[in-house]
Amino acid sequence: MAGEVESARQATPGGDTIFGKILRKEIPCNFIYEDDQCVAFQDINPQAPTHFLVIPRKPIQRLSESSDSDEQLLGHLMSTAAKVAKQQGLKNGFRLVVNDGPDGCQSVYHLHIHILGGRQMGWPPG
Ligand code: AMP
Repeated sequence: MAGEVESARQATPGGDTIFGKILRKEIPCNFIYEDDQCVAFQDINPQAPTHFLVIPRKPIQRLSESSDSDEQLLGHLMSTAAKVAKQQGLKNGFRLVVNDGPDGCQSVYHLHIHILGGRQMGWPPG
């Protein structure tokens, strides 16, 4: 946990990311959903029995750098998260997380929504 927070704090915004390589199919990844605006795939380091990511094809670095023109896309990411959560069998609820910047513990600077489920979540989050 401490290591993840530290590496996230040291992550450098800007440039290409591992998610860019996934979108360009330069590294293998099994998409559980895809359309013309976004893709979804399993998180490589799951924090819950179900943990997948929804990312836009557009390389927005972080939520705080999205613009008014991204409103439709941001809504689409949310509705896709709900649709794929249903497909993944999360009948009893789930949690969406968007980490933004160093304080938000963002480690990959390509906007993504985490969808976590399959266990009871706590509150407040860490
Ligand atoms: P964040 O800390 O919010 O930026 O989350 C980045 C997430 O990307 C982490 O949960 C990582 O486990 C996940 N991740 C990093 N590389 C990969 C990869 N190649 N495939 C799937 N998930 C990844």
